[in-house]
Amino acid sequence: MKVAIVGGGPSGLFLAILLRKRMPEIGITVYEQNARDATYGFGMGLTEGGLARLEAADAAVTADIMQALHFFKAQVISNREAPVSVRVPGPGAGTLPRITLVTILRKHAADLGIDVRYEARLADVSALDADLIVGADGVNSMVRESARESFGTTHRSLENHFAWFGTTRVFPTAALVFRKYQGGYFVAHYYPYSDTMSTFVGECDHATWQKLGLEAMSLEERKALLEAVFAPELDGHPLVSNNTTWRQFDVIRNARWSSGRTVLIGDALSSAHPTIGSGTRIAMEDAIALAEAICAHPQALDAALAEYEMKRRPEKEKLIGASEISAMWYEEFPRWMDAYGPYEFVYRYMTRTGRISLDRLRAQFPDLVREIEASGELPELAGA
Ligand SMILES: Cc1cc2nc3c(=O)[nH]c(=O)nc-3n(C[C@H](O)[C@H](O)[C@H](O)COP(=O)(O)OP(=O)(O)OC[C@H]3O[C@@H](n4cnc5c(N)ncnc54)[C@H](O)[C@@H]3O)c2cc1C
Repeated sequence: MKVAIVGGGPSGLFLAILLRKRMPEIGITVYEQNARDATYGFGMGLTEGGLARLEAADAAVTADIMQALHFFKAQVISNREAPVSVRVPGPGAGTLPRITLVTILRKHAADLGIDVRYEARLADVSALDADLIVGADGVNSMVRESARESFGTTHRSLENHFAWFGTTRVFPTAALVFRKYQGGYFVAHYYPYSDTMSTFVGECDHATWQKLGLEAMSLEERKALLEAVFAPELDGHPLVSNNTTWRQFDVIRNARWSSGRTVLIGDALSSAHPTIGSGTRIAMEDAIALAEAICAHPQALDAALAEYEMKRRPEKEKLIGASEISAMWYEEFPRWMDAYGPYEFVYRYMTRTGRISLDRLRAQFPDLVREIEASGELPELAGA
């Protein structure tokens, strides 16, 4: 069997590694448009739960990822200039540079002798000599677009505008800072991911985009504006761009996960909103599910693709559903900024997807719940 994987990001590379280890006899080629040492974005987060799944699938790759993680134990959430600290029990969230994650995967792929072709941007799939074509080519997937009708693709853009920067300021904790500035509404989500850099994602609603004239600004002017809005946090450090553009989030869904011998994984299949910070591990879990299904049906690709969708869809829809609720919460964040005091804001934020109940919040963050209760901003919690 020959497998062509379009996209050498986390999902495509992880799939190639899992397949090579489990089925050494199959031919695998990965096509990646970027150079070997390039990727987009800055640091990214991986949760403990996500790492456990990756470890069960490939302990060696996960061990290397764990080695590279940078941990912090608190997140600050600030609305109306009042920071509320959310201390994380246990090891906390792990972050690492996206380029490090991709480099680890590229190294494992090279050690296994997998044919990864860099600077190989495919414009269509018609010339590929393969029994199975995997679209692991991210949110703007060419593979998906080439058979859009047969996948039943739907696509809509959210209204908020966001951009993924880095900064040389190494913050002591992660933070979400909601700020009004010259009549506009902004949020910054930042966290350290190495000894020298932090990720800094800036976002504003569409009304702010128009009112403050961001539409007409150059990329440099927009960056300067964001630096001015969050000057107290950046403390003189610049924002750093890595081909950073401002985007409106694309919500991609597919009614069918495969079409003939072509199948989708990761962001190409369904994009997870960055505010749940789990898109990478969801994408890598798709790779695990597809590898398992192919191994279970090595001689029957149709059965493998059907099993992949049947087994993975319910779990993925739950995660993606939470991501959609989170996205909708952010679409209205100026309203919540005005409506809630600092503590109620944190409570509403942390319970926004419905996946965290008050009991779970109390169990995970007892100090925080005590502080919220003591603030008197949510009297109904006291009796709950
Ligand atoms: C601002 C922001 C912050 C984020 N933060 C986090 C976070 O903290 N934690 C987290 O888990 N996730 C985060 N994510 C989400 C995460 O980046 C994605 O969900 C994840 O990268 C999806 O992996 P993938 O392999 O499916 O696609 P990608 O990582 O997008 O990889 C696709 C690959 O395909 C290549 N490619 C595309 N088209 C072609 C072509 N035609 N030919 C050849 N190659 C091609 C691309 O170069 C790329 O390498 C964030 C996303 C954004 C936008």
